[in-house]
Amino acid sequence: MTDLTDLTVAEIRDGVAQGSFSAREVASAFNAAVEAGRPLNAYIVETPEKALEAADAADKARASGDLKPLSGVPIGMKDLFCTEGVQSAAASHILEGFKPAYESTVSGKLWAAGAGMLGKLNMDQFAMGSSNETSYFGNVSSPWRRQDGGNAVLTPGGSSGGSSAAISARLCPAATGTDTGGSIRQPAAFTGISGIKPTYGRCSRWGIIAFASSLDQAGAMARTVRDNAILLEAMAGFDAKDATSLDLPVPQWEAGLSSNLKGKTVGIPKEYRPDGLDPEIAALWDQGVAWLKDAGANVVELSLPHTQYALPTYYIIAPAEASSNLARYDGVRYGLRDLPDGAGLQDMYAATRAAGFGDEVKRRIMIGTYVLSAGFYDAYYTQACKVRALIARDFEHAWEKCDLLLTPTAPSAAFALGEKQADPLAMYLNDVFTVPASLAGLPAMSVPGGLDKAGLPLGLQIIGKPLDEQTVLNASFAIEERAGFTARPEKWW
Ligand code: GLN
Repeated sequence: MTDLTDLTVAEIRDGVAQGSFSAREVASAFNAAVEAGRPLNAYIVETPEKALEAADAADKARASGDLKPLSGVPIGMKDLFCTEGVQSAAASHILEGFKPAYESTVSGKLWAAGAGMLGKLNMDQFAMGSSNETSYFGNVSSPWRRQDGGNAVLTPGGSSGGSSAAISARLCPAATGTDTGGSIRQPAAFTGISGIKPTYGRCSRWGIIAFASSLDQAGAMARTVRDNAILLEAMAGFDAKDATSLDLPVPQWEAGLSSNLKGKTVGIPKEYRPDGLDPEIAALWDQGVAWLKDAGANVVELSLPHTQYALPTYYIIAPAEASSNLARYDGVRYGLRDLPDGAGLQDMYAATRAAGFGDEVKRRIMIGTYVLSAGFYDAYYTQACKVRALIARDFEHAWEKCDLLLTPTAPSAAFALGEKQADPLAMYLNDVFTVPASLAGLPAMSVPGGLDKAGLPLGLQIIGKPLDEQTVLNASFAIEERAGFTARPEKWW
């Protein structure tokens, strides 16, 4: 019999519906995989009983002909999502032990669609990072290993590094991610899976621990494009509890999947080919262009002239919003409280925040408060907001010439744990290709394109027009079909 943990979301859904196996068998197989996968440190909390409970409900629903879209599908939940009664710590010490009294809208929608929770997935603390190394709960190891003799343990990317590691290691068939500046797409690229960040406002942010509210978006991660479409359909939709939620119907993205791109024009932005771009990444990008042409698309070269300002703009706006959002962690309301003997209120705030936040979070709070402070506000924050508008306008001009953009997802394949930890700027450079779409609120997806010489996965990024997730998914589907990416990490854990 096939290993149930090798099945995709669509195969599990269909197999449960047809009675090829029970949902309980599937959940049990993944619960065992989660346990065996502990050396990867992908999960912070395991909830095998929740996976089984949802599976039993799915098996009953099948018997009564009452199946839901995700009945029988167990998934992993990024630790940034509040899950009722289950620790939701954003991988931080300051929220350790915080068990929300409520469920985030997105996770609630997934459970209502029949999915079950395998556990809470590790991540960079408060989603700040590109390697999962800022987690209070320890690094996540990528299941991938270099094939050229290098023995170093690699990062699964970040901030959704637990999600990407768990999916590529078959510790879950799919997971949620969140993307503020690339945290779904970059880890997907590093681990040979797919991930989509929808248009800002498609998924409710209610109950998702806030990092930078004008950028944060939930999205899907899975091994196939179809699975991403299935998951995103269950996650998206209007929510009156989030003022930026879009009041629009959720399209039937799975039913609309097609790899025929006739009539579509793909833009190739020249600013994404800086001097010194890794030749293997440049070659994959060219290959991607050929694949999209083969699928029927026209291709045009174009310019997004403000691209070079995206990274500095992001690293002003995101910390500014973070410094404001994270002001709520004061030792009074949630999680950690450090109250030294005889201390007053101010001392408690200071002690709690000093002990509770990691170095990267503190760095962002300091940058954020600096750029928002009197005297610097206009020079940094206001200026960044203006440049953000110019970046968004670049894309608007591009849409006059094309329907989607194709770029590499990240400037390199996965790097070794520890390699960039001492150099925040080198770490921030990882996001150079992903932050522009985030600043403009556009839907964007990473899909695996192939392996580099060291045997590590490389991803291609598709960026789409506002609300046009369907074209993003379809172009990714066309690449998936042509790339025939079936590589998987060899089990060593
Ligand atoms: N790596 C980026 C950062 O550190 C993006 C993180 C994210 O998208 N959550 O801010």
